[in-house]
Amino acid sequence: MITSAQLFEQACRHIPGGVNSPVRAFKGLERPPVFIERAQGAYLFDVEGKRYVDYVGSWGPMITGHADPDVLRAVRERLDNGLSFGTPTAIETTMADLICEIIPSIELVRMVNSGTEATMSAIRLARGYTGRDKIVKFEGNYHGHSDSLLVKAGSGALTHGEPSSPGVPAALAEHTVTLAYNDIEAVEECFAQIGDEVACIIVEPVAGNMNCIPPVPGFLEGLRRVCNEYGSVLIFDEVMTGFRVALGGAQAHFGVHPDLTCLGKIVGGGMPVGAFGGKREIMSHISPLGPVYQAGTLAGNPLAMAAGIALLSKIREPHFHDALTSRVETLCSGLRERAEAADVDMITQSAGGMFGLFFTAQSRVDNFAQATACDAAAFRRFFSAMLDQGVYLAPSAYEAGFMSSAHAPEDIQATLDGAEKAFAILSR
Ligand code: PLP
Repeated sequence: MITSAQLFEQACRHIPGGVNSPVRAFKGLERPPVFIERAQGAYLFDVEGKRYVDYVGSWGPMITGHADPDVLRAVRERLDNGLSFGTPTAIETTMADLICEIIPSIELVRMVNSGTEATMSAIRLARGYTGRDKIVKFEGNYHGHSDSLLVKAGSGALTHGEPSSPGVPAALAEHTVTLAYNDIEAVEECFAQIGDEVACIIVEPVAGNMNCIPPVPGFLEGLRRVCNEYGSVLIFDEVMTGFRVALGGAQAHFGVHPDLTCLGKIVGGGMPVGAFGGKREIMSHISPLGPVYQAGTLAGNPLAMAAGIALLSKIREPHFHDALTSRVETLCSGLRERAEAADVDMITQSAGGMFGLFFTAQSRVDNFAQATACDAAAFRRFFSAMLDQGVYLAPSAYEAGFMSSAHAPEDIQATLDGAEKAFAILSR
C-alpha cells in the first residue's frame, strides 16, 4: 500500500511544494499532508484506508456532504451531451435566475471559474463604474490571489508569513488601502480623507480567512452608510458565506445589502465556479453591455452549472440552514465544554454553517491582530491530535471550519470524543 508520505514525496518532484494550493501542504505542521482517495457524506477516506470526519468540505462547497447523489446525478445526466460548447446554453439562464431569486440584491449576474475571478472582476467593474482607482479592504480578509487584493491578505499567505506577496507591483498595491476589520471609525476616518477617490469597499461579511470572525454590530451597516455617502461601491465577498451563513448569504442574515456580491464554492457544487453580480445599473457596465471587459472560455460550463443548480435547489429546503446552524452550535458548545474540563483556553465563534476555534484566554476575537495573537502552537498540536483521532480540521489556525448536513449526531459525538483526547494531550 502506498502511503500519503510516499505520494507527497512523489508530488514534490514536479509540483511546487507538492500541492496545487499552498494550504494543502500542511506547512509548519511537521507531518506530510493526507492524500485523499475518495469522499462520501461527512467522511474523507485517505489512500491508506483511514476514515476522517471532515470539517473542510473542499473548503466550503460540500454543504450537503461529499459525493451528494443528487449533484452527481445532475452532472451525469449532462455528461454525454459534451463538456463545453463556448456558446450560450439554457442552463446558464437557469443558474442566473436561481441566484437572483435567492439573493435579491443581485439583478444581473456573470458566471466565472473561481472566487478569485469573481472578486478581481468585481473590483475592475467598481473601478470602471466609478472612474476611481483606490479600493478599501480589511486586514486578514482574503479575496483570492489577484494583484490588487493580495495586499496584507489572510489565508495561505498569512499562514506562510507573507502578508503580501512578491510580484505584486508596488504601484498597484498603492491603490489598495487596508484597514482593521470591525473598526468602522477607521473606515470613516479614511473616507473623510480620500473618500471621493475610493471606487469600492470589499469585505468578507463574516471573515473566514483569519479563522471565523463575525462582524460586530454596526460594522456592515456602517460600511453601507459610508459607501452611500461617498458614492463608492460596496462589495460583499460572499464566496465563503454565500448560501452558508444563510440561504441568502451573510447579507440576508445581517440585513445589509451590498451593491455587488461575489460568489464561489457552493454555487458550483464542487466544480470550479464563481460568480459576481449586483445592481443592474452597475452590472450594465460589463461587456458586452458596457465598456468594462471581462470574459471566460469555460465560464458558465454546463456540467458546472448542473452541479451548482442541483446543490442550490437542495439547500433551499425549508429549515436546511437552521438545522446546519444547530449542528454547528452542538459541536462548538461540546468543544468548549471539553476544553474547559481539560483547562485549555479555547473559545469558538460561528455564523450559520461556519465556525472557528481560537486558542486564547480572550472572550472574543474581532480582528486580525487578535486572531494572530492566539496560540498557534496549541492549534497545531490540537490539529495533529485530531487528525490522529480521525477528524479532519482545516490545517491552519487561520481557516474557518465548515459543517455539512451529512454530519450526523454520531459524527459530532465522535468529534467531541476525539477532542477530549486531544485537549488532554494539550493540557499535559
Ligand atoms: N474570497 C473568499 C472569501 C475566499 O474564501 C476565497 C477562497 O477561499 C476566495 C475569495 C478565492 O476563491 P478561489 O479559491 O475559488 O479563487
